[in-house]
Amino acid sequence: LVERMRSFGTTIFTRMSALANQTGAINLGQGFPDEDGPQEVLDAAVAAIRAGDNQYPPLPGVVDLRHAIVRHQERRYGLSLNADTDVLVTMGATEAIAASVLALCEPGDEVVTFEPYYDSYAAVIALAGATRRTSVLRFSDFALDEESLRAAFSERTRLVLLNTPHNPTGKVFTADELEVIARLAVEYDAIVVADEVYEHLVFAPARHIPMATLPGMAQRTLTIGSAGKTFATTGWKIGWITGPAELVAAARTVKQFLTFAGGAPFQPAVAAGLALPDTVFDDYAAGLAQARDALLAGLAQAGIPATNPDGTYFVIADVRSVGGEDAMQFCLDLPARVGVVGVPVSVFCDDKESAAGLVRFAFCKRLPVVQEGARRLSQLT
Ligand code: PMP
Ligand code: GLN
Repeated sequence: LVERMRSFGTTIFTRMSALANQTGAINLGQGFPDEDGPQEVLDAAVAAIRAGDNQYPPLPGVVDLRHAIVRHQERRYGLSLNADTDVLVTMGATEAIAASVLALCEPGDEVVTFEPYYDSYAAVIALAGATRRTSVLRFSDFALDEESLRAAFSERTRLVLLNTPHNPTGKVFTADELEVIARLAVEYDAIVVADEVYEHLVFAPARHIPMATLPGMAQRTLTIGSAGKTFATTGWKIGWITGPAELVAAARTVKQFLTFAGGAPFQPAVAAGLALPDTVFDDYAAGLAQARDALLAGLAQAGIPATNPDGTYFVIADVRSVGGEDAMQFCLDLPARVGVVGVPVSVFCDDKESAAGLVRFAFCKRLPVVQEGARRLSQLT
């Protein structure tokens, strides 16, 4: 293995799901739903397979999906895009992130991101030979710290890798925070890669604001979405990038040699999904909010401080009062203690101290499963 990848090992999600499988514990670790998305979307994929959509799709994505993405960005956010030049369908958001970073960073360039960060960010920045510069978001409100963000920028900053709503903290960046980021990106002439895969998993009254909707930002922002999150189809791996033609073309050039193209029968199904009425998205979020509240009730019973997230399907708990100073060890012991799996937040951090005692629990499971997980966690002493 090349030197720059040696620190990455096996991802925490693979490790923690293996632990759940071995022990039979409730898996609130790796974030994936235990129920599939809307029936119309599933049926459309089956129909597409039967209709023969089983060979390579066009490199940028099937026409219907690219148009559906354009209409979705217009309808939801008032963004105006060209389906031929400003949209690229990818094999999940993971490929979208990789193609964007590999296309835009020279070795030695710097990428500004927040920590805790989604695990693939660090790996892809390393693959590109670039350097990550982070600004720490701190428990429990994870508010942006302008001074530390400014300190992360330099003459070598090429990209800002932003994630809102944010995994693992559940934070939805506010308009004021996005403005701070946008101002710095303009000052340092940086491009923003905005990972907005949880755009629909936001709980009222919180509201998702795409970075590309800020004044002057559409021209320097690549926005990433994912059907895995929006339609609870994480195994389909359909994602997309939207943005200015020149930046999308750069990502497309790299994407050709990562996977070329894929997911032929899933692409028309996702197109059908994006055209569903907004109530479908709202109902999904409302169901998740119920699960969130069930999980929080269990943690509160045990006296464990936790975030009340505005978005995503993750809660962060401070388990120091129940023997979790070393959160990794706590997570390894948790299946035997109460039959639940979680993820230590420190694996998403360079500054491990900032995540001491913090554990992420996912609540994207059927309500009775989350309730049982919460009941088990409530027994921690
Ligand atoms: N970005 C974030 C913030 C995520 O949480 C995930 C999924 N866990 C991804 C990207 C990857 O999405 P996909 O499964 O579509 O590759
Ligand atoms: N995005 C999911 C999470 O954060 C898992 C992704 C993965 O397993 N790579 O839990």
